[in-house]
Amino acid sequence: MEPVVVVRYFEIGLKGKNRGYFEKKLIDNIRKIARPPEISKRYGRIIIRLKNMSFLEIKERLKYVFGIQNFSYAYAVSHDIDEIKEAVKKLLSLNIKGKKTFKVQTKRSFKEFPMTSNELSAYIGAYVLEEFDNLNVDVHNPDITVGIEIKEKEAFIFVGKERLYGGLPVGVSGKAILLLSGGIDSPVAGWYMLKRGLKLETLSFLSPPFTSEKSVKKILDLADVLSKYTPDTLRTHIVPFTEVQQYIKSNVPDRYSLIIQRRSMIRIANKLSKKRKASAIITGENIAQVASQTLSNLRTIEDVSDIPILRPLIGFEKLDIIEKAKEIETYGISILPYIDSCVAFAPKNPATKSSIGELKEIEQKLDKLFELEEKVFNKMESYTLGRES
Ligand code: ATP
Ligand code: MG
Repeated sequence: MEPVVVVRYFEIGLKGKNRGYFEKKLIDNIRKIARPPEISKRYGRIIIRLKNMSFLEIKERLKYVFGIQNFSYAYAVSHDIDEIKEAVKKLLSLNIKGKKTFKVQTKRSFKEFPMTSNELSAYIGAYVLEEFDNLNVDVHNPDITVGIEIKEKEAFIFVGKERLYGGLPVGVSGKAILLLSGGIDSPVAGWYMLKRGLKLETLSFLSPPFTSEKSVKKILDLADVLSKYTPDTLRTHIVPFTEVQQYIKSNVPDRYSLIIQRRSMIRIANKLSKKRKASAIITGENIAQVASQTLSNLRTIEDVSDIPILRPLIGFEKLDIIEKAKEIETYGISILPYIDSCVAFAPKNPATKSSIGELKEIEQKLDKLFELEEKVFNKMESYTLGRES
């Protein structure tokens, strides 16, 4: 009787001829993120042999692996009926607290096993009734389900399934640059895109000396949380944006300075994407009543991008974003008072509407703008976070 974890992955199962690639990537990611003692692919499942690792420890680690739909703590046993009974007894003893009803569910892909699925379920059900005085059968709505899977070389016995986030293994969908501010939204946006299998690098714009080292630490701490979900290291880039901001502030009508700043950020993000071979930009933008996030301004901001801008939070409620930020533990970092870019550069009455023509005209007169963007880009500092690959 050997303690194992049976890992299931529905969505990946749907991906046709890419299936083999997804499975390989998922196993690779589990290996790097959860570091299990032994892992293998079997019968359309992934089986982790726990050796000396505890169930609790593996559970805590598997939480960070996107692509897993659910998993079960299980015992791997032989086809011997006494061994199956022993495993059922042991698992139930460990999980029975507060439970009154149960059912047994058997799946048998190994047809040479001497009992049918129904026969085995009935047999084990009778055994459980005998062994556990306080348990009764309820096939429709049981408190606890004993699962039995009879495979060719062994049988797996488990109770219940633990849901995880699902999604796709990080890395299967390509790479994108996350514009990571110190706010609540952008780390959550990054989390959702990691969940869709994107590998991330982050890019943040700070305004030294108006922002301090504490702002740098805040950005690194946020990126560090995201790095827990990535199988390899996570690159974090910080651009000292002050010179561009000062130039815009002194040369652009106040109402347009915010949009022009955002266009600068996107142009710099495009430079980084080219350098790092990323094929999209991610922001925490959301249709909102703030100037930078009206439909009109989203359009004029994305106008300067050669690659798609992904906005996973576009239709979210703020409260839902906050809830998710708390769940993934970025919230406590995001609400620290250290700002990302200086409030002194924020306009008093930013325009809620802008036209591409108008902005191009303004930018044409800013003969130093592109040069300064190049200059701050060259001053970018890059950090490597997370696990060693
Ligand atoms: P957030 O909570 O993510 O800061 P927000 O609701 O405050 O979002 P904005 O400040 O308008 O919205 O920013 C919109 C998006 O633009 C952010 O989610 C982020 O992706 C990007 N962004 C804004 N400021 C910066 C910055 N200083 N560095 C990097 N990205 C930024
Ligand atoms: Mg913000």
